Amino acid sequence: MNFAEGFERISNLRLPGKKETVRDVINRDFNDFLKNKERVKEGKVPMQPVRMGISFICSRSGRWAYLDTKVREQLKERNPMDLLRDDELESFLDDVYARCDTRVYKDAKKKISQFLGAVKNLNDKLKRLPENERLKIFEEEFEKILKTKANIGRKGCDNILRDCGFFDHIPVDIHERRFLLRTGIFHKYASPKASDPTDYDDLAKAMVSFCKEELKEVKINGRPLSNFPGMVDLIIWYFSQKRTEQPSLGICSKDPQCEECPLKDVCFFAIQQYKHT
Ligand code: SF4
Repeated sequence: MNFAEGFERISNLRLPGKKETVRDVINRDFNDFLKNKERVKEGKVPMQPVRMGISFICSRSGRWAYLDTKVREQLKERNPMDLLRDDELESFLDDVYARCDTRVYKDAKKKISQFLGAVKNLNDKLKRLPENERLKIFEEEFEKILKTKANIGRKGCDNILRDCGFFDHIPVDIHERRFLLRTGIFHKYASPKASDPTDYDDLAKAMVSFCKEELKEVKINGRPLSNFPGMVDLIIWYFSQKRTEQPSLGICSKDPQCEECPLKDVCFFAIQQYKHT
């Protein structure tokens, strides 16, 4: 048993209450992200990541999960760029923040307006650029817009850029950190100069090295996972997120289910815990 075999087995697990396996949902997500990247190459800002940006603004990067769900529902029916009109934005915010404090409402209104204004400018700029310059400019400028206009933090920016098909962006969250530390992947792949387990960049670098070294044989839509650390992050999320209303396996969640885990023979934590039993 090695990590590649363990990831194969995780990918083939069926999500609770669903007919789909982890691989099915990852393949679908992967295709959606590639479509977003295609839109950028065509000179357009893709709308799904813009919706996500608005959702992050309203829900404080998903911390207010009930608002995240509400925003997603509201935006299904709307073109996000219509929110540049004051009446549309107010009607949207009225629906999202029915019982919220006015400061929260005003703050979201200001950020959404400046975010969408900058998105519109970027869209106009992309159209004028030669095709071979669009991806690079989009990646740089969209990240800046997310940070400065929408006030979205590092993890949120990486999440949105990964979903735009920039697979080197790894949104390191609590699940990722817990997984990298428990399994010993961080201990093996962090370099001595980047070995702080509380540092976002050090964790992301260890993850990239791990993927390159150990996941060449595991494929997603026919492509090796070693080149797509952002997608490996998503597999870890489905594997580690607690089972709630969102489909996930919840195996390496806060209370790890090591007995049923496909990685138990290679995981540092499991080996230490069960070596005497
Ligand atoms: S063996 Fe346990 S700690 Fe290790 S990855 Fe699996 S669930 Fe997590």
